[in-house]
Order: sequence, then C-alpha cells, then structure tokens
Amino acid sequence: MKLRKVTAASAAVLALSLAATACGGSDDDNSGSGSSGGGGKIKVGIKYDQPGLGLKKPDGSFSGFDVDVATYVAKELGYKPDQIEFVETKSADRENALARGDVKYIVATYSITDERKQKVDFAGPYLLAHQDLLVKSDSDVTKGTDLNGKKLCSVTGSTSAQNVQKSIAPKANLKEYSSYSECVAALQSGAVDAVTTDDSILAGFASQDQYKGKFKLAGLKLSNENYGIGVKKGDTVTVDKINKALEKMESDGSWQKAVDTNFGPADYKNEQAPKIGQIVK
Ligand code: GLU
Repeated sequence: MKLRKVTAASAAVLALSLAATACGGSDDDNSGSGSSGGGGKIKVGIKYDQPGLGLKKPDGSFSGFDVDVATYVAKELGYKPDQIEFVETKSADRENALARGDVKYIVATYSITDERKQKVDFAGPYLLAHQDLLVKSDSDVTKGTDLNGKKLCSVTGSTSAQNVQKSIAPKANLKEYSSYSECVAALQSGAVDAVTTDDSILAGFASQDQYKGKFKLAGLKLSNENYGIGVKKGDTVTVDKINKALEKMESDGSWQKAVDTNFGPADYKNEQAPKIGQIVK
C-alpha cells in the first residue's frame, strides 16, 4: 500500500516536470545553446552600408564579415539563417538599440571601450582593426596632423570622431555624418579632404568598383579597435553563449573562411584572431 502511494507521487512529479519542459520551448527569445529557436525570429543589429563588413545589397540580401559572424553566432544560439531578422544599427544608435531591446545583439564594427561598457555588455573581441585615413590618390596627406585646418569626415557616435578631436588632428574641421558611405561620397565630390575610421571599413570602400584607383589608405594604425558583440547591459547569459560561439568559430576554421571571403577582395591585411576577453589597448 505504502509502495503504491510513493509510485503515484513520483508519477505526478514526472508529469509536472514534463509539462514544464514543454512550456520552456515556446519562448521567442529562447537562445539556449544548441536548442532550436523554436521557429521564432532573432533580431540582430548590423551596419547596412559598409562593404566587406555589413552591407544590405540591392536584392535585399546581406553580406560581409560582421554578417557572417552574426549568422554563425545565431546558429550556435539555435537560429537558422532564415530566422534572423537584421536591423540597421548606425554608430550613434547602438547603445540605445540594445537598451530598448530592439535587437538581441549587435555585430557592427562596434569597438569595445570603457565608456560604452557603462551602458552595454560586450562579447568578444572577434577582430582587431585600427583607425586610418582615406584620401584621394593624389593627396599629400601622410599623417594625422596634416589634417589640421583641413576638412575631415567621420561618423557621429564613433570612436573615430572622438579620436580626431582628442589626438589625431585637434584643429581639423571635423564634419560628422551619420554613416561612412556619406563621408566617402563627400570625399569623392571634394566636399572633404579625408575620411577617418577603421582601416577594415576604409579598405572595403576603396575596393568598390566605382572608387577603384581614386582613393588610398594612409596606413597609419592610429588606434586599436577591438570589435565586440554588444548585448543589453546585464545579459551575461547571452555574453557567455556568444563567447563560446566565437571560440568555436575560430577553432573550426569558419572565422578564417569569413576573413578570406570578405576581406580578400579588398586586399585588407587583418590581424590574427583575437583571444576572447583580451583587449589590445
Ligand atoms: N569601430 C569604431 C566604433 O565603434 C568605428 C566604426 C563605427 O563607427 O562603427 O566607433
């Protein structure tokens, strides 16, 4: 009799735990490692106008190193490519997009800085780039200080714009636009004398058919830009999962493949894969 009672109680516990498991799979945001996204979508922030990194093509598809990293990470979180909804996150919008919960994570040439870490958390780094200058092929600008008194374009909310005023050319006439594609168009028209941001981004623009032979990179390595994947402040669970995904991407050869595919055409000589958690100051 006693034995039968225990058996009935165990069955009830088992039924309850099965019900709980079934409920757990319905969450849209279910990002459990290796689990399926449950048919839901995941929103990921990228840039839309940076060739080789994050680009929305005329047919609506996406390409670039950041897009490949974002897609690999999503796969590790349980989402297939068709479950990813890319959202444009411009430089000045990134912290707010995460705080509002517009996107789950951001892969958008997003440098890890102490200032930004007050507002968001970062996984990574997954790439080390350096600030540089893009000028016309016949320009005599060879160093940052040559830009004092000249018109220099960068993007609002970027580390590149901050560094100009802090150290590179404090007396330059800095024009801040909302995207690098606008800066590059201004360089072509002669509205500005140079564009400054990460060499990875500038190399991607310089290799575009319409700009071939017109521009050159100064090759100055003006800063270290450790690209991280931004997540909402406090979401350490997602940070840990993304770090695991990035480690796997490097060890299974997918990171190098994405580098070759996306930076090869721009002839961009990238640094080797960074160690997760190690920031180059
Ligand atoms: N990596 C730099 C930054 O996060 C410049 C590129 C960008 O604006 O995305 O500010």
